[in-house]
Amino acid sequence: MDTVPEYFGSMVFNDRVMKSVLSSAVYASLKKTIDENVELDPGVANAVAEAMKDWAVSKGATHFTHWFQPLTGITAEKHDGFISPAPDGGVITEFSGKELIKGEPDASSFPSGGLRATFEARGYTAWDPTSYAFIKEKTLCIPTAFCSYGGQALDKKTPLLRSMEALNRQALRILRLFGNDTAKCVRPSVGPEQEYFLITKEMYDARPDLRFTGRTLFGARPPKGQEMDDHYFGAIKPRVAAYMEELNRELWAHGVMAKTEHNEVAPAQHELAPIYTTANVATDHNQLTMEIMQKVAARHGLVCLLHEKPFAGVNGSGKHNNWSISTNEGQNLLSPGETPYENAQFLLFLCAVIRAVDDYQDLLRISVASAGNDHRLGASEAPPAVVSMFLGDELTEILNAIENDTPYKGGKNTLLKLGVDVLPRFNRDTTDRNRTSPFAFTGNKFEFRMVGSSDSIACANIMLNSAVAESLRVFADRLEGSADFETALHDLIRQTVRAHKRILFNGNGYDEAWIREAAARGLHNYATTPDCIPHLLDEKNVAMLTSHGVFSKEELRSRCEILLENYCKTVTIEANTMIGMALTQIMPAVSRFAADTARGAAAKKALLPDVHCAYETKLVGKLSALTDLIDGAAENLQTAVAALSGAKNVFEESVMIRDFVLPGMAALRAHCDEAETLTEKSYLPFPTYGDILFSVR
Ligand code: ADP
Ligand code: MG
Repeated sequence: MDTVPEYFGSMVFNDRVMKSVLSSAVYASLKKTIDENVELDPGVANAVAEAMKDWAVSKGATHFTHWFQPLTGITAEKHDGFISPAPDGGVITEFSGKELIKGEPDASSFPSGGLRATFEARGYTAWDPTSYAFIKEKTLCIPTAFCSYGGQALDKKTPLLRSMEALNRQALRILRLFGNDTAKCVRPSVGPEQEYFLITKEMYDARPDLRFTGRTLFGARPPKGQEMDDHYFGAIKPRVAAYMEELNRELWAHGVMAKTEHNEVAPAQHELAPIYTTANVATDHNQLTMEIMQKVAARHGLVCLLHEKPFAGVNGSGKHNNWSISTNEGQNLLSPGETPYENAQFLLFLCAVIRAVDDYQDLLRISVASAGNDHRLGASEAPPAVVSMFLGDELTEILNAIENDTPYKGGKNTLLKLGVDVLPRFNRDTTDRNRTSPFAFTGNKFEFRMVGSSDSIACANIMLNSAVAESLRVFADRLEGSADFETALHDLIRQTVRAHKRILFNGNGYDEAWIREAAARGLHNYATTPDCIPHLLDEKNVAMLTSHGVFSKEELRSRCEILLENYCKTVTIEANTMIGMALTQIMPAVSRFAADTARGAAAKKALLPDVHCAYETKLVGKLSALTDLIDGAAENLQTAVAALSGAKNVFEESVMIRDFVLPGMAALRAHCDEAETLTEKSYLPFPTYGDILFSVR
């Protein structure tokens, strides 16, 4: 078997491969495009395409595809063969620079929120040279952006790249103010920690809800839940270990540096974290990771559930988006520095994030909104729907000292002079690494914990990059015009802390008291997707996102519509699945058990006329009452779903779903789950939570 260094990246057209197969002139030119955002020389494209094809064919690839991320949340590909007929009747393999750079998929099946209709029927894909091409199942996959002919983004990569460019522009302005004339670009780095559940294929196949919706719609809680903490960091079961081993191998071959794997809090829940990389590559890698996770699971007779809340009452799955910004020279701008100047610069970037998170709480909430994540945010195990920021005690104290011009006690007990004093070393605190905060500073990066496990991380990073770019723009505008840089900097930091400290919260994010305090502080609390999505079009949000060139107003409108459409579709499918399962599986099963119990009691009485059969009588009474309740609740839900066709637009429909369909589903479920706890197990029509959650051994 090959060693890790041998197969790591073996399926990737990465820097090492490029260096070895491209001429030094072509390599240098491409490298400039990748590292410094310099536009690609068209002449170089042909040479790269040729080399890429030869490399791919040597690895057994027969096809190529432009690999892109439409607004459906999955990735899309359209395969084309490398092979062209040759004049002598044979075939030659061909792949031109033109084909590398631009593709024209039949885009009509991807959601556009009306954009294509307004602009141009077809869309095109465009190569993103900053994300390496790779081979997946004999196909060379070329990461691409997907746009309409009018230039409107129909995907998630395009606005992500634009947001990175906005951040780069503004961050460089700040660096120049601090005397850094050498950095050529600034980029966000991201490491997403991916949570997931592993269950057996048999369990999955036996549950229509899992098959149709990715989550269970019924199920009473198992007697052994996560309250018994033996799972987290516990020994990994052999079947899971075999899965993880193969998963790692596959990911490594595809250049994804999967690093840590351990059990998560819930039974059957696990986590995978890659080593961080540039935001757009991290986004591509995370999409690829989710795909490979599911494929490898299938080979092991398992199913990988990526849903945010596959099991009610059991810890849900998220994706912790670790985010930092650094220069092409390797300086992490969120890392406290060694010199007074670096420290002042660090505090300024920190303030930029504080301002961004406070001013654009709504955009961050929107960036993680989905029907699935609504079950998680605000429940007691996940971050609340209120966005707040955790800095830790030491950093909070430093900011307080600056805000109030009071001595900072850590270290010298003197006034902290920016640009003069070195900050004391504050350690990445292990005791109060606040796990409940939606947005936490963890030493040299921020961890945004609200992202859903099945979601692309693109949206969260688009909003984060853009909002921070906006802070930096405001800061640069002000500092560039100042006569006395140090004083202006000090004032700016002080004022920023004063104006935005309401977003800082070091306490327990699950606490009811915090939710009340957050309201008093004027923080948003958007509990559901229909509550937050329309705010995407709030004037301040449109102004910010358009001014940085991240989205056009039309793109925002279309995205708003698509997000709500996805929400409506998802919940409607869930509601219909529930109705089907209740009517054709649960009610008949419960009713049969009641009838058998009644028959048993009658037989007893026939034998022994004095017997009361109190137990059976009570049970049959309860079960009959429950089946009637289930029947009524199913009918109510059917009515609520039918009413959706009367909605005037997708916004109205989403509100009807929130107010009528989801409560109808909850009512139906409550009765069914109660019936489950009273029904003899052999009558149950599908596996229970206990069966599913402990299915993998
Ligand atoms: P945790 O204790 O939260 O599990 P880890 O050190 O394991 O933290 O890192 C979690 C994730 O954060 C990993 O994907 C890691 O690569 C990523 N990460 C670490 N440093 C940075 C950074 N400077 N910028 C972005 N992501 C980072
Ligand atoms: Mg973490």
